[in-house]
Amino acid sequence: MDRVEVVKPVHGRLPLTTPSKGVAGKTGLWRTERPVVDNGKCTRCFQCEIYCPVNVIRVEPETGVSIDYEYCKGCGVCADVCPMRAISMVPEAG
Ligand code: SF4
Ligand code: SF4
Repeated sequence: MDRVEVVKPVHGRLPLTTPSKGVAGKTGLWRTERPVVDNGKCTRCFQCEIYCPVNVIRVEPETGVSIDYEYCKGCGVCADVCPMRAISMVPEAG
């Protein structure tokens, strides 16, 4: 079978792209909602930390929940599993 050349050099160099937010797995501009935590309602049960599919939630016994918004996809799983309804999904500011 013939080899298929997918990437061809341009002016002698491979056409590499510059890493962007999307390439790094960061949410970039496409998240439409973000989770906001009411740490006053939170009982530190760790359900949100366990179920977040991208592992961006940390629950600390003293300070409560923190979310890394650079990587949060806005899926809403954390809000769905919270037994205290301590997490609300709110629209991203336009
Ligand atoms: S919205 Fe989804 S990705 Fe973001 S913190 Fe909650 S579970 Fe994780
Ligand atoms: S699931 Fe809700 S109550 Fe449990 S740690 Fe997360 S925010 Fe707090």
